[in-house]
Amino acid sequence: MFVSQSFTPTPSGLACDDVTVEAIVGHVGTPVYLYSAHAIREAYRALDAAFSAYPHAIHYAMKANSTLSIVQLLRSLGSKVDANSGGEIQVARRAGYSPADIVFTGVGKTRDELRDAVADGIGTINAESAGELDRIAELAVAQGREARVALRVNPDIDAGSHPNISTGLRVNKFGVPLQEARTIYRERKARPGLRFVGVHIHIGSQITTVEPLRRAARTLAALALELRDDGFALEHLDVGGGLGIAYDGQAIVGPAEYAMTVIPEVERCGIPVVLEPGRSVVGHAGALIARVVDTKCYPDGRQFAVLDAGMGELMRPALYGSYHRIVPVRPRDGEESPWDVVGPICESSDVFATDRQLPPLAVDDLVAVLDAGAYGSVMASNYNRHLLPPEVLIDAGQWRIIRRRQTLDDVLALEA
Ligand SMILES: *Cc1c(COP(=O)(O)O)cnc(C)c1O
Repeated sequence: MFVSQSFTPTPSGLACDDVTVEAIVGHVGTPVYLYSAHAIREAYRALDAAFSAYPHAIHYAMKANSTLSIVQLLRSLGSKVDANSGGEIQVARRAGYSPADIVFTGVGKTRDELRDAVADGIGTINAESAGELDRIAELAVAQGREARVALRVNPDIDAGSHPNISTGLRVNKFGVPLQEARTIYRERKARPGLRFVGVHIHIGSQITTVEPLRRAARTLAALALELRDDGFALEHLDVGGGLGIAYDGQAIVGPAEYAMTVIPEVERCGIPVVLEPGRSVVGHAGALIARVVDTKCYPDGRQFAVLDAGMGELMRPALYGSYHRIVPVRPRDGEESPWDVVGPICESSDVFATDRQLPPLAVDDLVAVLDAGAYGSVMASNYNRHLLPPEVLIDAGQWRIIRRRQTLDDVLALEA
C-alpha cells in the first residue's frame, strides 16, 4: 500500500479531504490535476516552523506551480515568491504580491524583463553574471533608480540529484564561479544604480541528502563574511530551494533536518536567510488523474496500459526519467502484475512507468499519478494538439476548478 499525505484510499476509491476523485472526474473529466490545499498549507507551515528559531523569509518558487489560485493560497499563508521570468512576476502581481515580496532569478533575463523589474522596484534581482549586473546598473541609472541586487554564485557542489536538475556544478550554466564572486561585488560596490542586498545560491532540485545543502549554506555564509569585511551591508543570504520530496515513499531529508543543517551555517553571520522552496511545498499536494483508454499484451507477456494523459500533461518522466507512484483510483481484485503505463503521444519516451507492479487494469479505469503538484501542469504542452488539462483545488471538503480545461478555440485563437 502507498502512503500519500494528500490522496488516500477509501471504500469509494481514492479520495482527498473527504472528496472522492470519481466525484470530481464525473464533473470535469480526465485528464485533470487535483491539488490538496491542506497538503500545501501543511508543507508550507512545516518549513516555516522548522526555521522559526532564525530570521527567515520563504519565497515560494513559482516555477514549480504558478497557477493563480495556488500562488494566492501561498500568499495567504505569508509566503513571498521567487519568480523566474517576467511572466511569473506578472502572475505574482496579479495574485496580490507587492514587488518588494518578489525575488527575480533566472538565467537569461531579457533587457525588457530587467527594465520592468527595476521600474517595479522588485525586492531583489538575483543576477546571474557580471554582465547582467552591469545591464541592471545602466537601466537603473537611466530610470534614476537604485536596483536591489544579489549575485548568484555557482559553488561547484554536486547536489546529488539528476544531472538535468543539478545547477551548482562548474559545468552548469547558472551563476558565477565562487572564486570570482567577491571581485565582482568589490568592483561594483560604488557603482551607481546598484544596491547589493544579498548573496544567492541554488545548487539544484530534488536534493535528498543534507550534505550538499550544508556545503552550499556554508559557502554562502563564508562569502557573506568576506563581503561584510569589504563593507557590504547585506540584508539576506538566499540559500535557494532544492529540498526534495519522497517520490517513492522512502524517508529523505525533511524540513526540520533541513533547518538544522542550514541554521548553524548561517548563524555565524547573523544575517536573515531567504528560502526558495518549490517542489517541497506543492509536490506532494498534487495528483494527475487519467483514464485508461487502451490495454494490450504482447506475446512475450509485456502489458501496456495506455492513458489519456502522458508527457503532454506531465513531462517529468520523459524529461528526467522521474519516478511517480501510480495507483488505481478504485483497485480491481486480482493479482498484481508488471505493467508499462504509457501516454498517448507519438514519442517512445512518453512512458510514465515500466514494469510497474499494479493490480489488474481495464479500459475506462481511472489511475492517479501521485506527487505531481510540482513541475507538472506548468510544463504541460499542446503537443499532438492535446488541450491543457483543468486543475482543481480541494479544500475543506469542497472542490473548485482553478483552471478550466483548454479548448481548441483557445489554442486556435492565436493562429491566422
Ligand atoms: C527552481 C528554483 C527553485 C526551486 O527549486 P525546488 O527544487 O523546486 O525547491 C529555487 N530557486 C531557484 C533559483 C530556482 O531556479
